[in-house]
Amino acid sequence: MPALPESGRAWYLAARPHGWPEPTDVALREVPVTEPGEGRILVRNLHFSVDPYMRGRMNDAKSYMPPYQFDRPMDGAAVGEVIASRAEGLAVGDHVVHGLGWREYAEFPAERAVKVDASLAPLSAYLGVLGSTGLTAYAGLFEVGSFQPGDAVFVSGAAGAVGSQAGQLARIKGASRVIGSAGSDEKVALLIEEYGFDAAFNYRNGPVREQLKKAAPDGVDLYFDNVGGDHLEAAISSFNRFGRAVLCGAIAQYNNTEPTPGPRNLALATGKRLRLQGMLVTDHQGLRPSFVEEVSGWLASGELKYHETVAEGIENGFDAFLGVLRGRNTGKMIVTLNS
Ligand code: NAP
Repeated sequence: MPALPESGRAWYLAARPHGWPEPTDVALREVPVTEPGEGRILVRNLHFSVDPYMRGRMNDAKSYMPPYQFDRPMDGAAVGEVIASRAEGLAVGDHVVHGLGWREYAEFPAERAVKVDASLAPLSAYLGVLGSTGLTAYAGLFEVGSFQPGDAVFVSGAAGAVGSQAGQLARIKGASRVIGSAGSDEKVALLIEEYGFDAAFNYRNGPVREQLKKAAPDGVDLYFDNVGGDHLEAAISSFNRFGRAVLCGAIAQYNNTEPTPGPRNLALATGKRLRLQGMLVTDHQGLRPSFVEEVSGWLASGELKYHETVAEGIENGFDAFLGVLRGRNTGKMIVTLNS
């Protein structure tokens, strides 16, 4: 076995942010690399994911994921190469997806790794279009949102990882109209020209409610909510009877320091018989085989397109995370450690 590195770098939470995270809230530290114990593997991470939900884990608040602790590295999805193994079924050179991102090296029980095939897709795709954000779009649309062909579908955060996939899946499966919102004119052009949305608008250019009414003149049947706030209110206003909202995320409020008021027009839900349902991708792992099969097919045929925004080097990991919250990404934000 070639000599293993003695140490590697890992990101730690150093203080709990109040509002927007600051560079002083995190620290990049050198930590020892340990040889794998029995039944365990040592992985050199090649890419890790930075995601909006990680902002919630920086708070010391009870949630569906445990808060980050100060005495161990932050974690999240990563893909890497096995460089030492004392586990059956995983050998040096294999590629695996696992949950110990935000670091260069990870040593952990082999059963927490999922082997992936680097010849089928670029490895970073297993963190995005073929990974959790892709499954979120798939499960949100088809299982939680009860998508039906002919639905008019509105997607917010539509140029991001989940949103760009949700909108395209709706198009591929026969939506009557797909409408997207995003935070720049360049992103809006991408939605229409590359992803095939029927209409799109820049939410910074005017009130969302008015822009949505124009973009969806016959109303909305299904809203895939990544943003919350004014977007959710606008969808409620544009909903047809029996409209459904998939409450996937509310990124507009992740850095708020005060409680956020709910939609002011929620009373419309009664007369319109609306359904607003929250979702967590972790509840939908059973869909993974059909998700991988269908999405791989659409990628191969070119019907489904995706973008990644790549930050090079672990030292840029925190800035990449801030970039997701600020909209500096188009598609999945990936931190690459290839160099
Ligand atoms: P993403 O969309 O790739 O990146 C986040 C995007 O949010 C940014 O690019 C930015 O794009 C937009 N944004 C930031 N602040 C905003 C604001 N104030 N108003 C409107 N848009 C804003 O991230 P993602 O990983 O795909 O996640 C998208 C959403 O899904 C998030 O809410 C996330 O929490 C949620 N999510 C939920 C689950 C689940 O299981 N429920 C799983 C994965 C993700 P613009 O330039 O367009 O502003």
